[in-house]
This record gives sequence, structure tokens and C-alpha cells, in this order.
Amino acid sequence: MAMKRNCPKPNCIKTADGRYCTEHNREHDKQRGSKKQRGYGKEFQRDRKQWKPLVDAGLVDCWRCSKPLEPGAAFHLGHDDNDRTIIRGPECPPCNLSAAGKSSALYR
Ligand SMILES: [Zn+2]
Ligand SMILES: [Zn+2]
Repeated sequence: MAMKRNCPKPNCIKTADGRYCTEHNREHDKQRGSKKQRGYGKEFQRDRKQWKPLVDAGLVDCWRCSKPLEPGAAFHLGHDDNDRTIIRGPECPPCNLSAAGKSSALYR
């Protein structure tokens, strides 16, 4: 017979089923999920911040077409076409548009 263990959350008197009790397991999963989403957003923002001064200085080429990005111009951070979690770098608006067009064509 398995040892009964109490949920380690403070003030919780329920029996643990896995790491926490059923209710707190669910809460823990939910928190982990939203943290991950926030982290991704933060990473994206941080990458943008890192690229921005370089783009403004005219030092960056579009990773797709390798044309130089106009200094100070609006740019998009492009994702890898096959793995949307990979940020490849700044891309020029025409490339960003055509990439978006391509990926939506895939789902047609
Ligand atoms: Zn609990
Ligand atoms: Zn381009």
C-alpha cells in the first residue's frame, strides 16, 4: 500500500495525488502554462530590443532576402518557417508579408 502524503501547499490538508492534491496539481499546471507563455513574450521583446539599435544603425540585413534594412525603419522579427519558436531575426516588411502569405497558403 502506498504511503499517504499530504499536499505540500501551505494550509492544504488534502492528500497528495502526485505532487500536490488534485486541485493544486491543476493549479500548478495552469500556472506553469501561463508562465511559459509570458516567458516567450518576454524573450520576443528582449530580442526586439537587442535588434532595434542595430537596425537603427543600418547594420542589419533581412535574414530572408539579405537586403539591408532601412535604418530606423519598422521591422518584423521573423520566425523560422518550420519551427515557430525559433526567432531568426529581423526581416523586411515585404518578406514578412510574403512569409505570412506562404504559411496561410499551407492551410488553404
Ligand atoms: Zn492541495
Ligand atoms: Zn527581405
